[in-house]
Amino acid sequence: MRKNIVAGNWKMNKNLQEGIALAKELNEILVADKPNCDVVICTPFIHLASVTPLVDATVIGVGAENCADKVSGAYTGEVSAEMISSTGAKYVILGHSERRAYYHETFEILKEKVKLALANGLTPIFCIGEVLEEREAGKQNEVVYAQLAGSLYDLSAEDFSKIILAYEPVWAIGTGKTATAEQAQEIHAYIRSTIAEKYGKEVAENTSILYGGSCKPSNAKELFANQDVDGGLIGGAALKVADFKGIIDAFK
Ligand code: PEP
Repeated sequence: MRKNIVAGNWKMNKNLQEGIALAKELNEILVADKPNCDVVICTPFIHLASVTPLVDATVIGVGAENCADKVSGAYTGEVSAEMISSTGAKYVILGHSERRAYYHETFEILKEKVKLALANGLTPIFCIGEVLEEREAGKQNEVVYAQLAGSLYDLSAEDFSKIILAYEPVWAIGTGKTATAEQAQEIHAYIRSTIAEKYGKEVAENTSILYGGSCKPSNAKELFANQDVDGGLIGGAALKVADFKGIIDAFK
């Protein structure tokens, strides 16, 4: 059966001391009040080696927000999937819309990143989603299909089964504007149907598809109650323990 997951994306926020404090506080709260879903925190690279040993791996998984599209070598400033894995981190966000837009990550680059993440035992949290103009033109299904096919649909069924998807409409990220529960369910169901076409019903049914975009404690329950919404990828609200816990508690 697929898992319910709440994953935080810290983005470029929190210095090391602040990140350690946030992780410790979240860990204490979740150890005392066990979540009814998997919880993941994706932190800046620099935090990974410090945060990973601080948290109880049975309640919090740790992940990176990106990895290099190369194995190793003369790529100044890059961080490889193998390096991430060596910190004890288990997840990596790939294809976030900010990386696609600001760092020009193409379908091909992301395909390489996914392969390297999997080869190093990391679980990719692979983000897809349309921009506002595409939504207004009714092209959201076409857009997410191209993103899936362009970077993931070359994978074997076995490898695809290791991926977590996050549908994040770009117009809802950090804007305070959330997709309605109906909009989320509609496109999540479409995403699952394309997976079923490509890999079969069983793989599709077992794929966790998270919603991301201005998710908060006040709307998480309604979003996660949908049949094809298996949790959330959380940006801003992951930076405050009370908010993040409020979202995690949507599964209680
Ligand atoms: C994100 O960037 O992955 C995200 C969902 O951000 P926010 O929750 O702040 O909209």
